[in-house]
Amino acid sequence: MISTVLPTYNRAPLSFEKGEGAWLVEADGRRFLDLGAGIAVSALGHAHPALVKALTEQAEKLWHVSNLYQIPQQQKLADQLVDATFADTVFFTNSGTEACELAVKMARKYWFEKGQPERVEILTFEGSFHGRSAAGIAAAGSEKMVKGFGPIVGGFTHLPFNDLDAVRAAASDKTAAIMIEPIQGEGGIRALPDSTLKALREICDDCGALLILDEVQCGMGRTGKLFAYEFAGIEPDIMMVAKGIGGGFPLGAVLAKEEAASGMTAGTHGSTYGGNPLACAVGSAVMSEVSTPEFLAEVSRKSALLRQGLEGLVATYPDVFAEVRGSGLMLGLKCVPACADIVAKGYDECLITVPAADNVIRLLPPLNLTDDDIAEGLARLEAVAKKASG
Ligand SMILES: *Cc1c(COP(=O)(O)O)cnc(C)c1O
Repeated sequence: MISTVLPTYNRAPLSFEKGEGAWLVEADGRRFLDLGAGIAVSALGHAHPALVKALTEQAEKLWHVSNLYQIPQQQKLADQLVDATFADTVFFTNSGTEACELAVKMARKYWFEKGQPERVEILTFEGSFHGRSAAGIAAAGSEKMVKGFGPIVGGFTHLPFNDLDAVRAAASDKTAAIMIEPIQGEGGIRALPDSTLKALREICDDCGALLILDEVQCGMGRTGKLFAYEFAGIEPDIMMVAKGIGGGFPLGAVLAKEEAASGMTAGTHGSTYGGNPLACAVGSAVMSEVSTPEFLAEVSRKSALLRQGLEGLVATYPDVFAEVRGSGLMLGLKCVPACADIVAKGYDECLITVPAADNVIRLLPPLNLTDDDIAEGLARLEAVAKKASG
């Protein structure tokens, strides 16, 4: 008989009752060090006082009104995001894949309004992940995600990872946009070189296409910059954000330049929940914490500390860990044994990591984990490596 919860997930046999900072606690009191943060979502760890305060204060006042009315909390968060980024305007969603839906619609509507309705093609990349909506799976295009779900949304052309010649050959006056993650998350923590992002910006400028960055996983301070595009010294036209922005409350956003957003006039898009008072009160509190230079500098410092330890593990246990990848606190360990086994051995050590494609385990800890948490995480990873070695 089918389980009462639709059985689409392969869940680990773990169940947490509460969280404190970078720690998750089971009902029996077992404490797990959380280096996954619910897949890069709990950017400030669990039960952060500022987020609890923002949530409970708002909860006592007003949860939801719909976008039929003004939402001051939404206005405030939009202002914060616009102040801190390339963007002139923001639309709030409830998830990353909804941000993908709007990014695709926005790019196509832009060309429609420019009198080029046939300009619908979006270039995307092998190994990418943009969520599980109809446009999200079409954008990523992997066999695993689209199989059985046809007809698949058209107009996406899938190109090899980090192959600029392929992009140049594919880009044309039919290209509406290029959509790409600066660092692939689900794909196995595969970072694009800054030079590639720069070149993609140039290709877009040459053919007129819009550059859409998917920073759902790598954004909101995770790399040590508020957004990863800053490393390359370029700006996108449209950017998808989610995961960390709500710190655990479901929230996403599409950020855009005024020109790229020019087709999205009243009535062209909407969401019942998107940007509701509760979500935006929390989002605002997250932004206030993660967007300061001091916080971002700490992310970089902690990244160096963690990374140094991980490099040590690769050197000591080359039959378990092959390579460290990624940036900031979005790090990956390429495994020699099956990465699922390494994640499971982590559970035995009360350590949470997240598997990804390309046989990589992801370390996506709360951005405010402590130096002691890092030391503890490295010790537990070493215990895992010892058990998996030889
Ligand atoms: C998680 C993720 C998404 C989808 O976000 P959901 O909130 O699960 O819909 C899209 N893009 C990237 C890069 C992601 O990591």
